[in-house]
Amino acid sequence: MRQLSRILIVGGGSAGWMTAALLSRLFKGLYEITVVESREIGTVGVGEATIPAIKKFNELLGLDENEFLQRTQGSFKLGIQFNDWLRPGSSYIHGFGVIGRDLEWLRCHQYWLKANSQGRAADFANYSINTAAALGNKFMRADPRMAESPIAHLAHAFHFDAGLYAKYLSGYAQDRGVRRREGKVADVTLRSNDGFIQSVTMDDGEVIPADFFVDCSGFRGLLIEQAMKTGYEDWTHWLPCDRAIAVPCERSGDFTPYTRSTARPAGWQWRIPLQHRTGNGHVYSSQYMDDDEAERILCDNLDGAQRAEPLRLCFVTGKRKKIWNRNCVAIGLSSGFLEPLESTSLHLIQSAIIRMVRLLPDASFDQAGIDEFNRQTDFEYERIRDFIILHYKATERADTPFWRYCRDMEVPATLQRKIDLFRANGRIFREDEELFAEESWIQVFLGQGISPRGYDPLVDIKSDAQTVEFLDNIESVISKCVEVMPTHADYVARTCPAPE
Ligand SMILES: Cc1cc2nc3c(=O)[nH]c(=O)nc-3n(C[C@H](O)[C@H](O)[C@H](O)COP(=O)(O)OP(=O)(O)OC[C@H]3O[C@@H](n4cnc5c(N)ncnc54)[C@H](O)[C@@H]3O)c2cc1C
Repeated sequence: MRQLSRILIVGGGSAGWMTAALLSRLFKGLYEITVVESREIGTVGVGEATIPAIKKFNELLGLDENEFLQRTQGSFKLGIQFNDWLRPGSSYIHGFGVIGRDLEWLRCHQYWLKANSQGRAADFANYSINTAAALGNKFMRADPRMAESPIAHLAHAFHFDAGLYAKYLSGYAQDRGVRRREGKVADVTLRSNDGFIQSVTMDDGEVIPADFFVDCSGFRGLLIEQAMKTGYEDWTHWLPCDRAIAVPCERSGDFTPYTRSTARPAGWQWRIPLQHRTGNGHVYSSQYMDDDEAERILCDNLDGAQRAEPLRLCFVTGKRKKIWNRNCVAIGLSSGFLEPLESTSLHLIQSAIIRMVRLLPDASFDQAGIDEFNRQTDFEYERIRDFIILHYKATERADTPFWRYCRDMEVPATLQRKIDLFRANGRIFREDEELFAEESWIQVFLGQGISPRGYDPLVDIKSDAQTVEFLDNIESVISKCVEVMPTHADYVARTCPAPE
């Protein structure tokens, strides 16, 4: 059995350098790894908000969290605030981590549903430590020594400058033996007998052969699409946004420990606070809004002075028909794209790298391993897609053609099933290893106005008084914890201030 010896990564954005960093860390020189990147082409230049799983990736690399935040101008993220999504003026937070605590067999929200129907519950936000802290602009890391306290359950992710992250990981990977090759890939040669990639040719004529190719070339999909013609599944009918404009502004306003997403007439706008600036962007549908109007809306809604020219981007929501095809795996934007509403792209990169490592082939490229990779990856993509669609579908907005389209569109059967089940009596089950856990779905269902008709019959094991006492206790403990937490700004200044 022949093992692989040379791995070529085409592309040096976040995807390319995250891949190179982890492979160099795990395989310690077992493979000859090269990253080809072109400064002239550059990277997509956006991608600043994450979900808590990124901590695991950084831990696998052995990065020190404070150093990582200093080097990437990072801040902490407890969740995402959705303004105007249900209707103009509405607001809710999808906070990471647990909500309250379970009682008997049931999640906390089941007791809340009953008490709320009797007018005896507070706002649902008060039962999540993450959300309550976010609303107070408070932050601290979870303290596992306080096992009985909600503080042990704080779950955080980060906002950071993705360009600085890629640079950081580039140094990390090169220190561990990865070779960086600057230049443009001009051609890709496929083997005539089986269509496997044999080599790439650089624009100066150098031919770089390898056994295994990782396509991290961004939206263009240089290997997986342009050379291998793998095909693309287009999901625009479910997620009609296909354009984005990004622009940074001076840091101003609240230094929030959360991302803000504000619905707009044909899409939504993000606000991501970093230490040195605030990242902003407008994601919209070109069918319902032209680029100039989208840019005007974005620039009229910055909370600090604009710092650069707006960057315009086009995309098609969907994924490659086969994300691993023959001896090529697509990682990052080359594999597909789901809009950044729930900050899942860097996560999809990280999970694809880990899955690729778990299914790393020998030189025979057994098809069973490739099929398993594609099955798991498709499942992950499709469940995240459903979660994002839910935000658009479950709206009361009918004020623009875009929102009327979203409200009235048919959704995938896998999502409709979840909506129907939750609408009945608030039940939701996490499927296999789907990314978003029950707590995430519950918060978005409720925040987007899907009110269950009933609640789980087991709730009635407890008397009404016991239910109210249970909920009051959670609320008051959370509020006391939030009171003593430092502000996000103070916490960052104390633990991980970036150089000016
Ligand atoms: C509007 C928008 C907002 C986003 N926000 C978020 C977010 O908040 N959170 C999140 O997790 N993700 C977000 N993302 C996604 C995130 O930006 C990407 O997943 C991430 O940056 C990875 O990009 P990439 O490395 O795949 O591609 P790129 O950054 O485009 O890198 C491609 C690389 O390939 C190289 N290359 C291309 N062609 C050639 C060639 N011919 N020869 C040599 N080199 C070549 C380029 O030089 C570059 O180095 C967002 C994306 C968009 C579009």
